[in-house]
Amino acid sequence: MELIDSHAHITCDQLYDRIDEVINNAVEAKVARILVVCTDFVSYERALQLHHDKITFDLALGFHPCDLNEFNEESYERFEQILKDGKLVALGEIGLDYHWDTVQREVQKEGFIRQLKLADAYKLPVIIHMRDATQDTLDILAEHANTKFLLHCFSASKEVAQVIMKMGGYISFAGPITFKNAKGLQEVPQVCDMNRILVETDCPYLAPHPYRGKQNEVKYVTSTFSKVASLLEIEELELEKTMKDTYLNFIGQ
Ligand SMILES: [Zn+2]
Ligand SMILES: [Zn+2]
Repeated sequence: MELIDSHAHITCDQLYDRIDEVINNAVEAKVARILVVCTDFVSYERALQLHHDKITFDLALGFHPCDLNEFNEESYERFEQILKDGKLVALGEIGLDYHWDTVQREVQKEGFIRQLKLADAYKLPVIIHMRDATQDTLDILAEHANTKFLLHCFSASKEVAQVIMKMGGYISFAGPITFKNAKGLQEVPQVCDMNRILVETDCPYLAPHPYRGKQNEVKYVTSTFSKVASLLEIEELELEKTMKDTYLNFIGQ
C-alpha cells in the first residue's frame, strides 16, 4: 500500500518529541506521503528539516482560527516571506471555529479572508478548518476562494458535503468517521465525488477506532482509509490509487 495522510501535525510539540518513532511507524504502516500542517513558525522550521527515504513530506502553513490572537502584522510579513520561498504546497489550516469561543468571530473572519487572499496571490490551494461555522465558512469561500480548497476533518452533514462538491471543493475524512456513533458522517462519502475525497489523521488529535483515546499518529490513517473504502464498497487498492491522484490534483502536481 502507498497511503497518504493528507493532514498531520507531526511537528507540533507532542509528536515532535518522538518524531523518529512516529515516522518509522508510518513507514511500517505503508504510508508514503504526509502533508505536514504547520500552525506556527516553530512547527514550520521543524518541518523543513524532515527527511526520510521512504516518505515524501509536503508542507502547509496557516494561522488557525483559534490562534489568531497570537499573530500580528509582523507574523503576516514573515508568512509572506515563507510564501515567497516557495516551499509550501498548500496554505492552511485556516477557517472558522465557533466551537471554542476563544477568538472573536469578526477577528476570525478577517484572518480567514486575509489568508484566502494570500493563497490567491501565491496560487496555493487552501486547507479549511470549519467547526460549528458552516454557513459563514461557505459564504466566505464562495466570495473569496479563488484556488482549490479542501474541507479537512469533515464533520458536517451530507447536504453540506453536496454543496461543497457543487462548489468544486475537496473533503478529507479523519478519525471521527470510524466512530461507532458516527452514523450520519458515515453517509457522507457516498454522496461525494470519488475524485475529491481524501483521508487524514489530524494527529495528535482524534485517533480513529479502535485506537480512540490514544495519542493519534500517522500510522493510524490506515483505519480511516479502510473505513472509507468499506463505506464506498470499493477495493482498497482502487481507492488508494484514486486518492493518490486526487491528492496530487489538489496540490497541483
Ligand atoms: Zn482543523
Ligand atoms: Zn489540523
